[in-house]
Amino acid sequence: MRLIFLGPPGSGKGTQAKIVAGKTGAKHISTGDILREAAAAGTDLGVKAKRYMDAGDLVPDEVLLGLVEEVLSDAKTSESFILDGFPRTIPQAEGLDEIFGKLNLNLDWAIKLDVPDQAIIDRLTSRYFCANCKADFNTKTKPPKVEGVCDNCGGTLVQRDDDKEEVIKNRLKVYHEMTAPIEDFYSAKGKLKTVPGDREFDEITSDILNVIS
Ligand code: AMP
Repeated sequence: MRLIFLGPPGSGKGTQAKIVAGKTGAKHISTGDILREAAAAGTDLGVKAKRYMDAGDLVPDEVLLGLVEEVLSDAKTSESFILDGFPRTIPQAEGLDEIFGKLNLNLDWAIKLDVPDQAIIDRLTSRYFCANCKADFNTKTKPPKVEGVCDNCGGTLVQRDDDKEEVIKNRLKVYHEMTAPIEDFYSAKGKLKTVPGDREFDEITSDILNVIS
């Protein structure tokens, strides 16, 4: 099974990709995770990628294409995988086609989690965490007993910088400009499946499993 998960930031595609990979035995390949690990380890790739990631910009296509080709060249990985966070631009999607051709692989589906922008803004701007013990809260779904105060340790609740409304709006803008055209790319090949993503978590997982079964 060879899948691509598409969807805007905050659509829940990373979490769904992990769950579906766990249920199907597919390898979960998150380019964001790989780049973060490389940055933390200080490898050449990580050093190159970090300045783009810190600015919220996309890492250059050729860096990502080299990385993905290396990962998919592993025979076991290439049997069954979910690509999460890649491709993110049309040149990446075209380059992935070439990699698939070179490695003699076929894509089963590109699965798009469809979540309206306003639902994403609501979802992400309501996320808070404790500055002291890092516990997660959500003012809508998991509110603290006392506003702004951590239930566990009494610490102050704060927002991640990239969960602030202006930053989220910018990440969504980048998504619509750079990544959304990929949906047409896969739709034209008859490979796009859209799953409504603004619902209960388990319902979304079971829809995805239905699509691929
Ligand atoms: P993510 O965890 O998928 O949101 O990725 C975090 C960051 O890694 C992104 O904001 C980009 O800077 C970088 N990144 C991850 N995947 C890609 C990609 N396919 N193309 C370009 N940059 C990427």
